[in-house]
Amino acid sequence: MEQVIIIGSGPAGLTSAIYCARAALEPLVVAGIQPGGQLTTTTVVENWPGFVGGVDGPKLMEDMRTQAEHLGVRFATGPEVSRIAALPSQEGFLVELSDSATYKTKVVIVATGASALTLPLPQKDKLMGYGLSTCAVCDGFFYRNKRVVVVGGGDSAMEEASHLAKLASEVVLVHRKDSFRASKAMQTRILSNPKVRVFWNTEVIDTTADSQGLTGVIFKDIKTGETRTWQTDGLFMAIGHRPNTSFLQGVVELDDQGYVVTHNGTHTTMPGIFAAGDVEDRLYRQAITASGRGCQAALQAERYLAGH
Ligand code: FAD
Ligand code: NAP
Repeated sequence: MEQVIIIGSGPAGLTSAIYCARAALEPLVVAGIQPGGQLTTTTVVENWPGFVGGVDGPKLMEDMRTQAEHLGVRFATGPEVSRIAALPSQEGFLVELSDSATYKTKVVIVATGASALTLPLPQKDKLMGYGLSTCAVCDGFFYRNKRVVVVGGGDSAMEEASHLAKLASEVVLVHRKDSFRASKAMQTRILSNPKVRVFWNTEVIDTTADSQGLTGVIFKDIKTGETRTWQTDGLFMAIGHRPNTSFLQGVVELDDQGYVVTHNGTHTTMPGIFAAGDVEDRLYRQAITASGRGCQAALQAERYLAGH
């Protein structure tokens, strides 16, 4: 019987692991198919405190993992968690991996993150990080005085466009309908921003690129079917996120978008299961906030175990 199994090895999972190890809980981390999490898909992280010139995302995550390993954290690398079931008599949980391995544990910390939805663009995989982005707070700085396009009509798109308008020379906000679904306050802020132009009833159907990366996007007017090429340096897709919670259906309460519902910190509706990071946070979605919640989950797990 394990004391704690942590699911996910992004900033939330690894911070939990470091705190659990220092509390002598000997945690086991199931790293999942993306060891290190989302930050391994970026280059420089400029808002992680303590690094004057920024820090390389994959290196930051590698160092977090090395730090955890030095403290004795064990890793099950490769398989994903496919199922969690409560054991009888509130003894703990059975955690099943996709390779059919099973573990028993008293506590589970879920830190499986959320994946940004992206448009099915033909050159997407090649251009991600080279003109295509899903995070203006992360990547906006690289587009100072450049032209950018933002796709989406929700609060995220308004926030992305608002953030980029402070940096870029021009922001074009593209939405497939003729009205936004974002909150009125955020819409008003965007529609009154002189740096932002809105193209309604418009889809991005393709991209143009050279050896350096993105050079433009191809718009399609949904009403007329007309297409046109638009030169741009960056395309930010803000069309929603999908939390990685399919294996938690029926185990803990999820909200209408699939995020884990937490209360009193990182407690879920199932005593003994805690959740931290992007998997339970649809608002902030930053590495530092995920790490902070990971710390909180470990401290709350420690208290829970002490009470049992
Ligand atoms: P994640 O980092 O998403 O990690 C989730 C982990 O869960 C992964 O290890 C995955 O393998 C694992 N997992 C998922 N499902 C399962 C399963 N079923 N079983 C086992 N494991 C599973 N934030 C910033 O603060 N600054 C930045 O500059 C910045 N840049 C970014 C750039 C990009 C391109 C992206 C995509 C995001 C960026 N972010 C940035 C956001 C930041 O990466 C996230 O907020 C942060 O990684 C969330 O941490 P997390 O630990 O909650 O989840
Ligand atoms: P969202 O509300 O689901 O909005 C997604 C937007 O992307 C919608 O406008 C949708 O268009 C569009 N979209 C989806 N798929 C698309 C596709 N394939 N092509 C083109 N457009 C597509 O997601 P979100 O904006 O990330 O917000 C998620 C939640 O977080 C919401 O509850 C939101 O209120 C909250 N949030 C709050 C804040 C804040 O309060 N500061 C900030 C960010 C997010 P349609 O409108 O046509 O469906």
